[in-house]
Amino acid sequence: MTERLGPGATIGILGGGQLGRMLAVAAARFGFRSHIYDPDYTPPAGQVTNAVTRAAYDDEAALAAFADAVDVVTYEFENIPTGALDLIGTRRPVRPGRQSLAISRDRLTEKQFLSGLGLRTAPFADISGADDLSRAMAGIGGPVLLKTRRFGYDGKGQVRIGSGADAIAALDTIAGAPAICEGIVDFSREVSVIGARGLDGAVVCYDPGENVHKGGILHSTTVPARLSSDQKVEAVLITGRILEALDHIGVIGVELFVTPDGMVVNEIAPRVHNSGHWTQTGCAIDQFEQHVRAITGWPLGDGRRHSDVVMENLIGEEVARAPEIAKDPSAALYLYGKAQVRAGRKMGHVNRIVG
Ligand code: AMP
Repeated sequence: MTERLGPGATIGILGGGQLGRMLAVAAARFGFRSHIYDPDYTPPAGQVTNAVTRAAYDDEAALAAFADAVDVVTYEFENIPTGALDLIGTRRPVRPGRQSLAISRDRLTEKQFLSGLGLRTAPFADISGADDLSRAMAGIGGPVLLKTRRFGYDGKGQVRIGSGADAIAALDTIAGAPAICEGIVDFSREVSVIGARGLDGAVVCYDPGENVHKGGILHSTTVPARLSSDQKVEAVLITGRILEALDHIGVIGVELFVTPDGMVVNEIAPRVHNSGHWTQTGCAIDQFEQHVRAITGWPLGDGRRHSDVVMENLIGEEVARAPEIAKDPSAALYLYGKAQVRAGRKMGHVNRIVG
């Protein structure tokens, strides 16, 4: 039998951005309280939660007090020091567990884990200097991407290298950070699968979404993705494999490249994911409730899609379109309550029912 948290229990969330905010709202809808931990003075999730701890991720006293104040701890992003999870883990369950975070926040361990499972990835090599890079470029052949192992998101921390002449400049750009070099995958489209695994081991996956990026940032997700039924099954099976192998509890996002030879896994996010926001409008149980159910020991909900949806992110100044968008009766608008508009900052999103 698995333990199940009851109404009134408190979910601790590390990170108070928009994902933490939407998790806190889902927790409240399910009768739970939430407590956000974030170093920022005004995290977006702080507006919708019961309590906020504003402290650094290495503040051991604050982490211990936070753990003692909640019943289970989860996280909304992967750049949390594993030491923080270890400390919290001695006091409260952390879901998903340390392994999901440790593997997915480092592009090298992530790629090694995926290829160890027999899944296809871009060809890759560990890079710690110019010699490694020229060897890897010769081995992989053609243009490559140099990506920092950590702290890369929304296209940050990566440089394309067309030829040997660009290699030194590329290494300068990442300023000596540990990195990997990846071959460029010739894909026809990018898709992602949002999956969840419950405390009882049950797995539910949502329909794959088709993603379009602009300037390295997710622009839109369209569901259903244009995939054959075999491709759809392959994408979902890959996600199930990863969830099982990580012994993951909660939601995961798996980003895939579609190629003529099958799916290539680009990366995994051990958390609710921007490309899963469409589930708020396309499914009875969205990814945020699904995650709350998983980590509190409730049965997973139905992942079936009842509507076709296009999710579009509102980045930076695009949020000024919100009043116009709100006039569209098929548009569900989500604004993140961020007072400061900055270029590249995710300010909100809109889910449009298209079928
Ligand atoms: P990432 O930060 O790894 O998610 O990469 C951001 C975007 O860059 C991806 O969504 C792809 O559009 C592109 N990209 C990343 N890695 C590769 C690759 N090995 N081959 C081709 N395109 C890539």
